[in-house]
Amino acid sequence: MNLVFLGPPGSGKGTQAKRIAEKMNLLHLSTGDLLREAVKNGTALGKKAKKYMEAGELVPDELIVGIIEEKVASGELDNGYILDGFPRTVPQAEALKKMLKKNNSKLDKAILIDVADAEVINRLSSRAKIEGRADDADVSVVKNRLDVYKKQTQPIIDFYSGESILKKVNGLGNIDDITKRLHQAITGK
Ligand code: AMP
Repeated sequence: MNLVFLGPPGSGKGTQAKRIAEKMNLLHLSTGDLLREAVKNGTALGKKAKKYMEAGELVPDELIVGIIEEKVASGELDNGYILDGFPRTVPQAEALKKMLKKNNSKLDKAILIDVADAEVINRLSSRAKIEGRADDADVSVVKNRLDVYKKQTQPIIDFYSGESILKKVNGLGNIDDITKRLHQAITGK
């Protein structure tokens, strides 16, 4: 099963992607985790990405598309995956479609975790305390990330809806219940 998880920052996307990946034996690939690791290790990618991440902006498409292209080409994704945090823009979604096609592959579903703005802001401020993520601690950076999500990422919802692979799941409530809802939306079971 080849899946993309979509949802605003603080929607629980990362937590749920991890749980579903484990349950369904899929590879979980989070571009946010990958970039944070690159920044921590001071790699060339990390050096380029740092300033965008600190400001709550997206890193340029070509930086991140190149990384996903390498993963597709390496065969790492051949046994099924959940992409978490990618694609984030319509050009990224188009690039993904093209590279998968080249590999005789495609996405099965795009899962949108649906959570209202007010809830998202609450969750991000508590995550800042728990996980110590710098981009969650600063209210103006959080607001910018939500703005960026609305302007640059939300249009992907129409893109996948147009491809008839979009599934919307209510992201409010108990973590276990949300995992069950997601599993049902993905497998029909
Ligand atoms: P996340 O953990 O998914 O919220 O990502 C944290 C930060 O990493 C984002 O605010 C962006 O700066 C950057 N990032 C992660 N994934 C992408 C992507 N697909 N395209 C551009 N920037 C990204």
